[in-house]
Amino acid sequence: PGEQLDQDPKKKTIVVLGNGWGATSFLKSLDNEEYNVVVISPRNYFLFSPLLPSVTVGTLEARSIIQPTRYITRHKKRKCAVYEAEATDVDPAKKTVTFRDASETNEDHKEVTISYDYLVYGVGAENQTFGIKGVKEYGCFLKELKDADRIRRKLLDCIETASFTGQSEEEINRLMHMVVVGGGPTGVEYAGELHDFLIDDLRKWYPEIADKLRITLIEALPNVLPAFSKQLIEYTESTFKANKIDVMTRTAVKDVREKSVLVQDANKNTHEIPYGLLVWATGNTARELSRKLMSKLPETQTNRRGILTDEHLRVLGAPDIYALGDAVAGQYAPTAQVASQQGTWLARTLGKMAQAEKLKEELNQLRASGAEQADVERVVKKLNRAAEVPSFTYSHQGSLAYIGSEKAIADLPFFNGSFSSGGVATMLFWRSAYISTLYSLRNRTLVLTDWAKVKLFGRDVSRE
Ligand code: FAD
Ligand code: NAD
Repeated sequence: PGEQLDQDPKKKTIVVLGNGWGATSFLKSLDNEEYNVVVISPRNYFLFSPLLPSVTVGTLEARSIIQPTRYITRHKKRKCAVYEAEATDVDPAKKTVTFRDASETNEDHKEVTISYDYLVYGVGAENQTFGIKGVKEYGCFLKELKDADRIRRKLLDCIETASFTGQSEEEINRLMHMVVVGGGPTGVEYAGELHDFLIDDLRKWYPEIADKLRITLIEALPNVLPAFSKQLIEYTESTFKANKIDVMTRTAVKDVREKSVLVQDANKNTHEIPYGLLVWATGNTARELSRKLMSKLPETQTNRRGILTDEHLRVLGAPDIYALGDAVAGQYAPTAQVASQQGTWLARTLGKMAQAEKLKEELNQLRASGAEQADVERVVKKLNRAAEVPSFTYSHQGSLAYIGSEKAIADLPFFNGSFSSGGVATMLFWRSAYISTLYSLRNRTLVLTDWAKVKLFGRDVSRE
């Protein structure tokens, strides 16, 4: 594979697994002058996840929030190999990665194994189901673009079917009941978007049944958004109340069936709740690939939630593997902010390591050639600076969440900790924060155009 990858055998090879928040910010910041770089991910684009809930109801179009990874790698100093493939195994002892192209067009799905000098492990996490039966079969997750597309199609299917002639009252009520499980930011933002769709569009396009639409958010803990401040939790819960989003706290889903969920309340009573669409947003768990890697390092990898690293992001037990983002079970929350800061830090660190290697070579040559002491000292100083790698530290820039009806909440490190408000100003703040963090001018233009289109024409209710 070396030849095929167009690698320079004199340079070290970095294999990057994934192209999410962590891996993409790494790729953007890396100076690859001194490295061969191979990127492997089952999708060939970066997804801007904070705006994913907006795709579920058509506020934004799916393609507006993705960016092909080749947009980034093609601007690099040296060529990078990008493979749309899934890593199936990592061998930390042999320092190899095995991967395969799982696409429909490639029928043989042959596995390829390549070596790495450094592995950047940014495969993210999988959806948590707690082993509850029926979740994968009947529920919709909200993590990938295909999930948002599926929700959009299923939502419209429920509405069209409820509008079909001769439906019983009971069936209409079931079909128009949208249940969201998990009151973390994903569930809350989705419920908010759904509410906007009801108010702005459903009443216009489906006046006969629009008011039958009910949204229920089920959360096992005593309140939604456990990671936000008390003030913001109260603000969110009262906004939802005003928007007629039914919030069932201290209620855990125990079983998922095709048309209903079984829940248990705080008094241990069990109820059956019929639904038309079920969105499952109960957080993360480690990917199969991560579990496999962890099982190869049993002495150091002892946390079932994910990979353990040291403060330099080196995987415990395999120091040539750097893990970042949601794949890691560490002190940080699984957020885009953490993953992207880790990616940038790692790019800088590997850049410094390459610089240190070069300086070591220069030093050896100077010493071998009997150079002046002053010249040697000058290089030694530079080498010491390059070899100094501070550990990763996270700087929290605040959390933002959109909760519907032009209201957003913000937990910011300034304003004494938290800040919440509603109305046009907050919307503009929320929107401008996301527009400025979008990776490219192309994405910014597409997102702004989508917002303008929705303002002018409403959301598109065609079911593709
Ligand atoms: P991901 O971004 O999930 O990327 C993982 C990558 O690994 C993907 O490219 C995937 O294709 C690839 N991959 C998977 N399996 C393999 C394999 N076997 N081999 C190779 N590659 C593989 N965080 C915030 O800070 N702010 C927000 O507003 C916010 N909003 C969110 C909204 C939603 C709806 C969701 C779901 C999450 C949100 N998050 C937000 C969380 C944020 O998206 C994650 O924390 C972030 O994506 C983690 O980055 P990552 O690089 O670790 O993983
Ligand atoms: P989460 O882990 O934050 O929340 C999941 C919720 O589901 C928890 O409150 C949990 O108590 C509840 N739950 C679990 N099992 C349940 C059950 N059986 N029945 C009912 N409730 C149950 O998950 P998330 O919202 O997907 O967020 C994942 C990560 O992504 C978090 O770190 C979050 O901060 C980040 N994120 C951030 C934003 C934002 O900042 N706007 C948006 C989305 C996600």
